[in-house]
Amino acid sequence: MYEVTRLIKFCYGHRLLNYRGKCRHLHGHNGRAQVTLASEALDARGMVRDFEEIKGTLQAWIDQTLDHTMLLCREDPLVEELRRRGERCYVLDTNPTAEAIARLIFDYALLAGLPVTAVTLWETDQSYATYRPAAARGRRRPARAVRRARSTSTAA
Ligand SMILES: [Zn+2]
Repeated sequence: MYEVTRLIKFCYGHRLLNYRGKCRHLHGHNGRAQVTLASEALDARGMVRDFEEIKGTLQAWIDQTLDHTMLLCREDPLVEELRRRGERCYVLDTNPTAEAIARLIFDYALLAGLPVTAVTLWETDQSYATYRPAAARGRRRPARAVRRARSTSTAA
């Protein structure tokens, strides 16, 4: 099995609902998404995927959708206010934890046709969360949040 991994840096804000720690307040991170693709065989160029292709699809989506954007839970009352003021928001069905953001990026990579096997979201230099699906059971479907985001952009 061959693997390639690309790091994608982006800045985002968020806050967690129903949470007692300091992350209940709005704050931001210089995050890094570590995206791993895998393949049993290499293409005619001798690659799993060209890093430029990963950059052109996944990084472009992150830049347009998540970078310099406030990631919020659908139930967060701030969503309406921030949108009203023209702020960039991306709404998730769940709390916008590192785990949820890793899953979001994983699902988009899958939707974009990349042979993704894992996404790790580094929230800080010390803390990261990884989404890696259990052994494949047929074709995986991206989560509802990503499918919806493709049809209606939530970024201002
Ligand atoms: Zn945070």
